[in-house]
Amino acid sequence: MKYKFCPICGTKLEEKYSWDEGGVPYCPKDDMMYFDTPKPCIIAAVIKDNQILLLKQSYIFKNSKVLVSGYVTNGETVEDTVRREVKEETGLNVGAIKYLGSDYLPSREILMLTFMAKYESGEIEKSSEVEWLDWSNIEDALCEMPEDEIGKRVVKKVLHEIGYKGHKAYRCEIR
Ligand SMILES: [Zn+2]
Repeated sequence: MKYKFCPICGTKLEEKYSWDEGGVPYCPKDDMMYFDTPKPCIIAAVIKDNQILLLKQSYIFKNSKVLVSGYVTNGETVEDTVRREVKEETGLNVGAIKYLGSDYLPSREILMLTFMAKYESGEIEKSSEVEWLDWSNIEDALCEMPEDEIGKRVVKKVLHEIGYKGHKAYRCEIR
């Protein structure tokens, strides 16, 4: 987000030169530069054997299941965010976490950091934000997530990570 006024004191921002960023909005009162940074968000595929955890949250997509996702909160690492969001939304604890690369959503200025997280312990206990939540066969995941383009990219990376060699998982993809 490009600020015009200081979000702390309301002063009209000046432009200050930063050697590697060029002109950056600056508040002289607070001595603060406001870099045009994206909002970091995580999306995590929780995996248990051949199963993947899918959720239904109509406010995100009406006709699509999605993966666990959420904003990175100040003070935590992105790995903390993955563990916290999985726990909050599903009640489960995850063990090993693997980073699978990032995606950028220009319309919402979101930097989506994608992960695969191995199920470790706990029973499914969905939060009130989630309408439905359960394990799905990983071969059915792409068919159940028609609207979630980023989620589907994560699932494809997961299929690659687990060494999936079949074709069934890709049957709903447009070729
Ligand atoms: Zn200020």
